[in-house]
Amino acid sequence: MDAEALLRLDRQHVWHPYGPPPGQLAAAAAARTEPGGMTRPGRMEPLVVRSASGVRLTLDDGRELVDGMSSWWAAIHGYRHPVLDAALAEQAGRMSHVMFGGLTHEPAVRLAQTLVEITPAGLEHVFLADSGSVSVEVGIKMALQYWRSLGRPAKRRLLTWRGGYHGDTFHPMSVCDPDGGMHSLWGDVLPRQVFAGVPPLSYEQSYVDELTAALKENADEVAAIIVEPLVQGAGGMRWHHPAYLRVLRELADEFGVLLIFDEIATGFGRTGRMFAADHAGVSPDIMCVGKALTGGYLTLAAALCTPAVAEGISRGDVPVLAHGPTFMGNPLACAVANASLDLLLASDWPGRVAHIEERLGAGLADAADLPGVRDVRVLGAIGVIQLDHEVALGPATAAAVNHGVWLRPFRDLIYTMPPYVTSDADLALVTGAMRAAATASRSASSQHSS
Ligand code: PLP
Repeated sequence: MDAEALLRLDRQHVWHPYGPPPGQLAAAAAARTEPGGMTRPGRMEPLVVRSASGVRLTLDDGRELVDGMSSWWAAIHGYRHPVLDAALAEQAGRMSHVMFGGLTHEPAVRLAQTLVEITPAGLEHVFLADSGSVSVEVGIKMALQYWRSLGRPAKRRLLTWRGGYHGDTFHPMSVCDPDGGMHSLWGDVLPRQVFAGVPPLSYEQSYVDELTAALKENADEVAAIIVEPLVQGAGGMRWHHPAYLRVLRELADEFGVLLIFDEIATGFGRTGRMFAADHAGVSPDIMCVGKALTGGYLTLAAALCTPAVAEGISRGDVPVLAHGPTFMGNPLACAVANASLDLLLASDWPGRVAHIEERLGAGLADAADLPGVRDVRVLGAIGVIQLDHEVALGPATAAAVNHGVWLRPFRDLIYTMPPYVTSDADLALVTGAMRAAATASRSASSQHSS
């Protein structure tokens, strides 16, 4: 199919992430208000990708773009990695899928064993889910059911901090930022959770006091604290002091609530440690992982829990976790996850991530002086330019593409989370593209406002 025909059909029939209904692109482009201040990505026609290899996407017209996004932070080893391709082909030659109810298989068992080994101490039981959002649903269900089983059904709320993002299904939406996030439209139908303020970068006793007060006031109703440790990703690409994670652990123990870490974005080395929890030496009771788990090849996530949580659940009238997706433990996804983790663990990933951190820092150093830039920050293999205006998505993306780089800015953020295998020359291309995108956004928005 040629690109023109493909795009015509795409416009008519295909829904894209956070996009307007198919067939409504023109109406969406004309709409002025944007709920929750959310950028409306549907205003931009998608680029047609024909293939991807290494860190490059090849477009229909032959242009190659360095992927500064790792396909939404997942493709840590790049595309068409021979080891991952071989693992997938080998597994497809045995079985692509069998149901997990009543059956089991080596790819899933081996993956669970590796996850137990590399995640923080105490997490010993693994529920394989089919996406990050579903793993958060499962983690929350574990926490609520734990208290139900212990005769405390009133403990069914969650405490979190503002500025978070945990996925797009309903319970995860309820712990996303209630105002600035993508899901403010749903405020009246979501369960009402307990929110503290956005966690600061520095350690502040007043913030600890705020967390303590929020928990103290609601401890009888709170089942668990749930947060993204260290880095709040899609909620604003900002970081906080790791000591708050220790505070959360202490508060959870003191007030009798569980602690859930959502490591879907931060897991598998992205912040410079295998998991963000490792920066604080804290073990949660429940932890969710996803995204980079399969090296970006297939959709797979997991919710892990401690024996104490599992044992609590098993004491209830319903001593099972009533959750079992059709594609649970999909062997292809597990096999490629095993290969991806083997690759990661055999590599000098801490050295690679530290090097990327240094290169992103150098490449973005002068971006802070660009007009329209509010802040520049780098942590691990994450680089962010925060603008003082909502990004002009079309011009910013076009500027990056003209630079030979794929970026997907949102809200006031132009950021990168490159594959760990990105070379220095390509990292320089990415940071150059980010600066160009910031400049293009600023001139488009000042033209718009003048
Ligand atoms: N939790 C966090 C921290 C995330 O960053 C995301 C996705 O960006 C999710 C959950 C949802 O994962 P998925 O998109 O796989 O459902």
